[in-house]
Amino acid sequence: MLKGIGASDGIGIGRVMLILEQSLEYTPKEITDIDAELERYRNAVEVFCDNTMKQADALRSSAGDKEAEIMEGHIAIIRDPFMGGEIENLIKAHQCAEAAVEQICKMFIDMFSATGDDLTMQRATDVKDIRDGLLAVLLGVNEVKISDAPAGTVLVTKELTPSMTAGINKENIVGIITETGSQTSHSAILARALEIPAALSVPGAVSQLSSGEQVIVDGFKGEVITAPDEAAIDEYNAKRDAYIREKRELENLRGKNTLSADGIEYELFCNIGTPKDAVKAVEADGEGVGLFRTEFLFMDRNTLPTEDEQFDAYKQASLILKGKPLIIRTLDIGGDKEIPYLGLAKEENPFMGFRAIRYCLKNREMFKSQIKAILRASAFGDIRIMFPLITAVEELRQGKELVEEAKSDLRASGIDFDENIQVGVMTETAASGVIADLLAEEADFFSIGTNDLTGYTMAADRGNSDVSYLYSPMQPSVLRMIRRIIKCGTEKGIPVGMCGEAAANPKMIPLLMSFGLTEFSVSAPSVLKVRNTIAKWTKEEADKVAEKVMSMTTEAEITAYLDSII
Ligand code: PEP
Ligand code: MG
Repeated sequence: MLKGIGASDGIGIGRVMLILEQSLEYTPKEITDIDAELERYRNAVEVFCDNTMKQADALRSSAGDKEAEIMEGHIAIIRDPFMGGEIENLIKAHQCAEAAVEQICKMFIDMFSATGDDLTMQRATDVKDIRDGLLAVLLGVNEVKISDAPAGTVLVTKELTPSMTAGINKENIVGIITETGSQTSHSAILARALEIPAALSVPGAVSQLSSGEQVIVDGFKGEVITAPDEAAIDEYNAKRDAYIREKRELENLRGKNTLSADGIEYELFCNIGTPKDAVKAVEADGEGVGLFRTEFLFMDRNTLPTEDEQFDAYKQASLILKGKPLIIRTLDIGGDKEIPYLGLAKEENPFMGFRAIRYCLKNREMFKSQIKAILRASAFGDIRIMFPLITAVEELRQGKELVEEAKSDLRASGIDFDENIQVGVMTETAASGVIADLLAEEADFFSIGTNDLTGYTMAADRGNSDVSYLYSPMQPSVLRMIRRIIKCGTEKGIPVGMCGEAAANPKMIPLLMSFGLTEFSVSAPSVLKVRNTIAKWTKEEADKVAEKVMSMTTEAEITAYLDSII
């Protein structure tokens, strides 16, 4: 078995087609007729751009617009006056077109490769692709025709360039193996867009595999199984079929409402960290955003973001969501989330220290500027405010007072905002669970943050592997907390959602349905999976499971039971 990085999900079983690098060798010559050489170069650029445009069109129909833009980017790069100008300067200094192209491309490749930054390093791959394409035209070398690959082909190459991908016929290529590339490289992005299982960065793939041999590509794990026996083929065939079946099932749910098997409707939102993530939430078919972690706007910089900067970010996210709900959590710093320029003192126990709402209520100006930014953005969509780490009713009251203060400031300045903006509580501490009845009197909604609720209930740090055996939302204590929070919220008529990781856990979902949760907020890739899980349960079935689970005494008993039925 060969091992690389799993870059595009799925299982591919087929025969290897090795794409070896073509010989683009030439003998450099000194040019005497500069004008003729310039014309030869410019013609080659035209042919190259023409070929590339055709490849972009092919890619647009097989993979999509974004992927085609990668190829169109090649045209922009070679037409860039700086790069083209430098190549022409070398020709004017009597170098042949091949040598000029190679030298200038090398300069760009070295420069981009040296940055160590994933995204910039991909530019180096683009320039290599341009160099090879231009040299192939200048030397009259025919490029390998991937489009002729027969059905059941697994492509094996050192590096998968965008121009190679353009020739791929999705029906015939069942897997991709490369020696280079990361999860975020063009190769990975293109393989995912084409939905072809891919194992990238597989060392020695080209030298160890031969054309025609049978292999299995496991795109989940990045594994290549060589010389598979019948048992392996059967096993992976079954995995492939199950994956394809699940994908089809999930795709059928795109654009649909989130309904239980007996027709109860739920809200299915996404968690985001930046306005750009809102695009992913919409693409994933999220019905809104249940948690915008605003601390990301405060990180990776040296000063606080201004009210205007924050307003722009919140407004942008809201506009992307086109009227779908957007729950913005106010700054949740401290604990594991550091912001160096705030100069927070080192504490003995930062998770129980001066953080989140506690810090914000003591830094009123900063807090008010965030609240004003959120209020101003609320004129552009359905925005709601949520306070993190609430442990006492006073904290909610003080937070709400500040919202009222911010509202009157805005009113005085004649600035629009949503007068009825909802203010909710993130129930993620043991205290908030215990006083959920009191909080429900004064909050407009709850969202259960099980990541912290589990830690604070079990007194077990989220990130401490020595106590990770205790850190489970399936602990009877945590399940009782969750059930209580939902019950208290429901009794007071406020909606209760969940934005912790547990909301996407298929074993937790029937319990949450039974307890009466109305909104699930999960990461974008989990949206359709959660919709699918919810659709499998009726309330009556979920109640039976919950009743049984809540009668159990230990986490081990609960997980064993849930494992046996789900
Ligand atoms: C949580 O605590 O469950 C949560 C969603 O918030 P975070 O992970 O940002 O602490
Ligand atoms: Mg939290």
